[in-house]
Amino acid sequence: MPEVRLEPEVRSAVVPMRRALRRASVVLRRDLPWVGHDDPWAIFVSEVMLQQTSTSRVMEPWRRFIAFYPTPASCARAPLSDILRLWQGLGYPRRAKSLHDAARTMVEDFAGAVPSAPEDLRRLPGVGPYTAHAVASFAFERRVAVVDTNVGRVLARALANRPLRAREAQHLAESLLPRSQVAAFNQAMLDLGAQHCTKVPKCAHCPVQRQCRWRREGGGDPAPASAGVSRPQAAFAGSDRQVRGRMMAVLGAGPVNRRTFARQLADVDPTRRERLLAQLVRDGLVRVGDQRVSLSGDDPSRH
Ligand code: SF4
Repeated sequence: MPEVRLEPEVRSAVVPMRRALRRASVVLRRDLPWVGHDDPWAIFVSEVMLQQTSTSRVMEPWRRFIAFYPTPASCARAPLSDILRLWQGLGYPRRAKSLHDAARTMVEDFAGAVPSAPEDLRRLPGVGPYTAHAVASFAFERRVAVVDTNVGRVLARALANRPLRAREAQHLAESLLPRSQVAAFNQAMLDLGAQHCTKVPKCAHCPVQRQCRWRREGGGDPAPASAGVSRPQAAFAGSDRQVRGRMMAVLGAGPVNRRTFARQLADVDPTRRERLLAQLVRDGLVRVGDQRVSLSGDDPSRH
């Protein structure tokens, strides 16, 4: 793979930014229950929940989940339907199945523990590069950079003042890491991106504004064209995602016969309803029998 080369102005911005961020880390720190947590499983669960759900919506479900399933083994033993019920409100329920499958892999291949190496974490279902790095850093103090969409904006604006390709962003984030207290530093980057360097940046109170190249040099916002910086999502209201969520909520109350299921979703066009139900079956979240529809893991005959 070709080496990543960054221009001298970018490289010379690294050291001042590292110092400024370390100084600012305490004021930036958000009060999140999983930050500084000493249990890798609790951190793992938080990272899976945070993949596609905002921080404020994750807090309560995370607390509930950890109380119900305090270890990978307890999660692995539970039927998937129980995990899916606890997941309600978080959306994207395929993540619940991945989390359940990941817990089983931990039990079978890692003696019931969360693995610490990013390459082992990547072997778990539903774990991509971001989650693997986040868990390795926050749970095990591994020296790896955590680059999500928020951090991608900070890197493009504050250090490069140009759009970055994914490999450039990762390389730049790694060169920014301090030698020690890496988890706290990664957290400070996330906190900066979440609170100040937002989609519409709040530069006036940003603690690194003096070191920020975009703030100093001006020009168009380099963040939107950067790799890894999220694009606006399609509207939720009326979407397939919303209808699938309603289907999961209906089945969350327990197995139902097919006619009752159709009646509860009578406002949805039948062809669309069948198509979305088939997707849930393909994803392994729902089971459809001759008479009954149920969450995977539920006994279909249960009333
Ligand atoms: S000064 Fe503005 S653009 Fe620069 S890092 Fe802070 S919030 Fe982001």
